Amino acid sequence: MNYDGGQGWHHPRIVPYQPISLDPAAKVFHYGQTVFEGLKAYRTAEGGIRLFRPSKNLQRLNLSNDRLSIPEIDEQLFLEALMSLVRVDSDWIPGEPETSLYIRPYVIATEPLLGVSPSQQYLFMIIMSPVGSYYAEGINPVSIHVESHYVRAVEGGVGTAKTAGNYAAGLKAQEGASAKGYTQVLWLDGVHRRYVEEVGSMNVFFKLGDKVVTPALNGSFLAGITRDSAIQLLRHWGIEVEERPIPIDELVEACRSGELKEAFGTGTAAVISPIGELSYKDEKLVIGGGETGPLSKRLYDTLTGIQYGREKDPFGWMVEL
Ligand code: PMP
Repeated sequence: MNYDGGQGWHHPRIVPYQPISLDPAAKVFHYGQTVFEGLKAYRTAEGGIRLFRPSKNLQRLNLSNDRLSIPEIDEQLFLEALMSLVRVDSDWIPGEPETSLYIRPYVIATEPLLGVSPSQQYLFMIIMSPVGSYYAEGINPVSIHVESHYVRAVEGGVGTAKTAGNYAAGLKAQEGASAKGYTQVLWLDGVHRRYVEEVGSMNVFFKLGDKVVTPALNGSFLAGITRDSAIQLLRHWGIEVEERPIPIDELVEACRSGELKEAFGTGTAAVISPIGELSYKDEKLVIGGGETGPLSKRLYDTLTGIQYGREKDPFGWMVEL
């Protein structure tokens, strides 16, 4: 679907996957004016196809659009486009456990003009691909490196938007962490380099004693849809969830004393990903004996159960095709 100043969003269409042609001066190449989303379609045991909370992705896409000065996209149009495309590609949705169709809607600024101002032309596209488990480790714990040198977003910046620049800003640290054998980077806040924010593509949760704590949304990291779903499930089970600033030194202390029982990341791709090890300033901290904890397992089983239709959907999250 295209946008240009005079016509608004227009010309929605489905075309075979193929390279696209863009002017070398297209604004997206030079000023990074682009946003994206990520969600999944699942096939149930009965063969039905369903999406997980797609309206939340549209709402977030429009928040990202707003932050990047990209025109809003109509919710109905977005859902119709999504549904039509999934229908066309439904044969690609595998039926095996842990597999799904990953859907990537995105907007790029296409106006061919060198000059820093919002583009007058955009292209909105949706591509998709069948996926298996996100990490080679599956539901087994991952190891995370706490990044204390680089930052990738600050309050008031674009950290709450799902935009390419945030990921570009994280590549250097991610490369360093991977070279040391870590799966992902845990980002600290950009001002004090003290408060935990998010992992490369996941939000984070820590089980401290009987409570679960997760960083409060502060305007510099992404409001994950899986994060919101995990909080709702935990509260539904009567588990106290605290959303608050979490200093890294508190976690290090809690880990040393054994009060930190479990840690896990949440995200569309990874669903629930237990964290078995944190490295911070040359110290390696093992969490929960490096094993998948019971809460991570319960959340993973329940969320995937809801997504694949094995469990009741008490919150009405799934949308049938
Ligand atoms: N933080 C970042 C930076 C991400 O890229 C993602 C993945 N979209 C998340 C958190 C988790 O968000 P969600 O649960 O909506 O996938």
